[in-house]
Amino acid sequence: MNASSIARDVASGKVSAQEVLSRHLGSIRVSEPQVGAFIRVMETEAMAMAKAVDEKRRQGARLGRLAGVPVALKDNLQVSGVETTCGSRILQGHVAAYDAAVVKRLKSEDAVLLGKTNMDEFAMGSSTENSSFHPTKNPWNLGCVPGGSSGGSAAAVTCGMASLALGSDTGGSIRQPAAFCGLVGLKPSYGRVSRYGLVAFASSLDQIGPLSRTTEDAALALSILAGPDAQDSTCSKKSVPDYSAVLGQGVKGLRVGLPKEYFLPGLDAEVEGSVRGAVEVLRQLGAEICEVSLPHTRYAVAAYYILAPAEASSNLARYDGVRYGRRSPSARNLEELYELSRGEGFGPEVKRRILLGTYVLSAGYCDAYYNRASRVRGLIRQDFKEVFKKVDLLATPTAPTAAFRLGEKSSDPVSMYLSDVFTIPSSMAGNASLSIPCGVNRAGLPIGLQLIADDFQEQTLLRAASAFEKAKPFPRPEKFSS
Ligand code: GLN
Repeated sequence: MNASSIARDVASGKVSAQEVLSRHLGSIRVSEPQVGAFIRVMETEAMAMAKAVDEKRRQGARLGRLAGVPVALKDNLQVSGVETTCGSRILQGHVAAYDAAVVKRLKSEDAVLLGKTNMDEFAMGSSTENSSFHPTKNPWNLGCVPGGSSGGSAAAVTCGMASLALGSDTGGSIRQPAAFCGLVGLKPSYGRVSRYGLVAFASSLDQIGPLSRTTEDAALALSILAGPDAQDSTCSKKSVPDYSAVLGQGVKGLRVGLPKEYFLPGLDAEVEGSVRGAVEVLRQLGAEICEVSLPHTRYAVAAYYILAPAEASSNLARYDGVRYGRRSPSARNLEELYELSRGEGFGPEVKRRILLGTYVLSAGYCDAYYNRASRVRGLIRQDFKEVFKKVDLLATPTAPTAAFRLGEKSSDPVSMYLSDVFTIPSSMAGNASLSIPCGVNRAGLPIGLQLIADDFQEQTLLRAASAFEKAKPFPRPEKFSS
């Protein structure tokens, strides 16, 4: 069931939070052994939270907007008293001392926190195969990846183990898994949602957002997550619109641009067909469609793989075996402690990023790489700013292909990086974007439509997504492989 209806039914007493939870725990027992969406299921904590919600209702207190909704959290979000691993061996045993701002907000709306989901180590990857613990499988086809890096969150919602999940998106990590799993995945504008308590990967790009089954749930989640936070100085003070109120407004008169750089050879034919079909639906609903150009798109992936690793190499310097998580048992002195803890703790992709990042920031190279990439980023942002003078929204594929097979790209980092070609530009610009399912290919795998809007125009994304979803409901299998 979707989150909005669970919250309504729990609030009205039609069902208890404990019943809802036990149904989800049942799904976990059936699907989790094959799907591997979680790093930790917080069964005891969740049962206590569900009980408290039911107790609160019994006493006649007003319930929050997520009353009894089982929510899964990507394992880079801190929940006080619970281990946060970021999918990395190096953080094994690291117990969070405080709640992330988003976690506090979920708790205050009476959500039931169900567990911590699997992810690519430190959110570096597009398939969840870079987890130190185990890969997560795509519930639509267990031979395929669920996308990444929030693949555990996506898989958990897909097969009904959670009703809603949070992910983080630095270059596509909410939208791409949403596309691969047939979900709605929303990356809010930079600064819309507080990152306090999110383990940093690339601080100028990271955003937290929801993965859900419906647009209504995405709007509800964003209404709760968004807004100022004194503990995150990058969080905007802009007021938060009522995202749920725009859902019925339709798309009549909305100007939708198709950036020609997103429909080039190399794009999978079925993905292209499905996305163009979705655009046709928007046209029939009254949107005006036109072609636009974002000329610097082709530099986005290259610039991202300078900026994101640069920031990561700095952010990850703190994992030295002294303050957080795992400490190498074989170190004989301080230098070895750093070397061995990092050498044994980090996986190959994280090491690659640290090497890349350290190199591009090093004296003598900084101008040629980091500073240049920052300027390219400015041009990419400028492209979007120009285009949003003419259109309200952009429509593109979320990813160039549907879900790929496990192992297909794991030995070829560049081909893995390219699965984010369409999601990285919006991250670099810092604007708002969302993926919504728009079809299923011949192999039975979902395809995602990406909508991009200007900074802080999430309501336009949600408005169009909801109109689309109503016109073209997404087929959901009764039951996933079990
Ligand atoms: N796949 C991209 C990367 O590995 C984006 C990851 C993300 O958004 N966290 O950097």
